[in-house]
Amino acid sequence: VTPRASLDGERFNVVVIGGGINGVAIARECARAGRRTLLIEQLDFAAGTTSRSTRIFHGGLRYLEHGDIAQVRESLRERRRLVRERPNLVRPLEFLLALDGKSRRSALAVRAGLWLYRRLGGAERPTGRHSERDALERWLDAGRRFSVFSFEDAQCEFPERLVAEWLVETMAAGGTARNHTQVLAVEIRDRRAVAVRLRDLLSKKEERVEVTWTINATGPWADQICRGSGVSTGHPMVGGVRGSHIVLPKFAGAPAAAIYTEAVDGRPIFVIPWNEQILVGTTEVPDENDPARVRPSDDEIAYLWRSFQRLFPKVPVAKKDLHYAFAGVRPLPFSPNAQPLAISRRHYLHDHAQDGAQGMISVIGGKLTTAASLARECAVKIGASVVEPVAAGTVPEHEVGALLERAITEAADRGKISLDSARAMVGWHGTKALGIAETARGRPELQIALCPHTDHIVAEAVYALNRECAVTLADVLLRRVPVALGACWSEECSRVAADRIAVASGWDESRVAQELQGFELESEYFLQRRFS
Ligand SMILES: Cc1cc2nc3c(=O)[nH]c(=O)nc-3n(C[C@H](O)[C@H](O)[C@H](O)COP(=O)(O)OP(=O)(O)OC[C@H]3O[C@@H](n4cnc5c(N)ncnc54)[C@H](O)[C@@H]3O)c2cc1C
Repeated sequence: VTPRASLDGERFNVVVIGGGINGVAIARECARAGRRTLLIEQLDFAAGTTSRSTRIFHGGLRYLEHGDIAQVRESLRERRRLVRERPNLVRPLEFLLALDGKSRRSALAVRAGLWLYRRLGGAERPTGRHSERDALERWLDAGRRFSVFSFEDAQCEFPERLVAEWLVETMAAGGTARNHTQVLAVEIRDRRAVAVRLRDLLSKKEERVEVTWTINATGPWADQICRGSGVSTGHPMVGGVRGSHIVLPKFAGAPAAAIYTEAVDGRPIFVIPWNEQILVGTTEVPDENDPARVRPSDDEIAYLWRSFQRLFPKVPVAKKDLHYAFAGVRPLPFSPNAQPLAISRRHYLHDHAQDGAQGMISVIGGKLTTAASLARECAVKIGASVVEPVAAGTVPEHEVGALLERAITEAADRGKISLDSARAMVGWHGTKALGIAETARGRPELQIALCPHTDHIVAEAVYALNRECAVTLADVLLRRVPVALGACWSEECSRVAADRIAVASGWDESRVAQELQGFELESEYFLQRRFS
């Protein structure tokens, strides 16, 4: 791996610790406000909770039940903004709320809730899009009488791609970003956070940078950073709650809508079309272990499977067909004795001046959906002028389809690549796909697909390595060009992809072997494929 420029002895206005969606959003905001900003991530950007979520951008219909109108309003505003700004990544999706006669929620209460939800989201009535109700009702258990309600939310199938785009914007605004680098401690002198000590996990070198503001955006790791820096907060800031998912093959006739329903124990769960597969989640289990080692338990997998089967008893999918399961730890605000479901999903900023560490702030809680508004709030808190997102440059919803179709034809033409590859590339890179496609023109080693089962091409992997801070094969295949999350990815695909990237990037045999080993280790841990 090419050694990275030393940071030792440098001075930054802002150091953001943690490169999940919140840390990257904050770094981008600070860099755009002209602050000399450093973003540090111990694994890879988005490798923590962000890539282990259910991937929906929603107002949170459920939070209405808790009376959290402000949270719902903020989330819906941010959802609308992202659908306009990143139409290739954040897309509206129909949700069908399916409740059987035993549900404790009455039809009247649900209708009233949905009416309010639509009003808060800016829509007076149902969107009138084609509804997937029939496709759903065909599969539901005929022995249970279901009421089905339709509403609209949004899905970001790949928050890792959104993070990659914000990362590139951070660096374009002058920020510095480093992954595979761990913050060892924040140095406190005279009750002030004055420096941050780092270890580059690739070169094993330790470095120290001086800083005015330190933002601890490490999600479920937030208390670890404080403990390691001798900052005492009285009680923990985060109460980790594990959530697991199972991923199943898509079956013929599966509804194209997301299903929001009740699990075997009455808890809410989602069954969502995702990445040409079906994602079922999630659970809520208090978890105080190292968030880097989080795995779904056998019980959680069994619970999700039983809930899916109970909803869809006729679906021709068996437990042995499961593709994989994965889990993440929600960094919820520490709330002893509260039921996980009842804990607020709002974020807050903990100012450590009160703990004897002026200039240090921890970010607690939050959602993918509200990362950008959290980042603006954080920037304001440290006195940086917020760059309000510009409405110009966003595309009216009715023009999005045509714009993306034009981009696909142009990318295919510029790169002399197939329309299918251009479509896949525009889906993940939006109009940036044009530039990536151009790099492939006349270079067959870049035009070739990463493996025989995908339309994504080697040029995207090379772009990830050169421009999106990807360092390892796992960074590329799990997050920047996340083909390894696909339905039919196998060890053979990884080997083919590594060989093809090697040709284009000049990796020798030993580098390929080392990258493959690292990739297999990481993906085996992240994507659990063995079920009891
Ligand atoms: C099961 C589940 C489902 C969810 N579903 C949704 C959903 O559908 N929609 C939604 O809006 N939200 C959802 N969420 C919530 C959402 O995923 C999180 O709020 C969000 O990802 C938190 O991002 P973050 O940046 O704070 O944390 P993370 O993504 O965890 O990022 C923190 C980063 O800090 C790094 N780090 C830790 N220690 C150090 C150190 N010493 N040095 C350097 N780096 C360090 C970690 O490696 C990690 O990458 C879900 C969460 C879970 C767990």
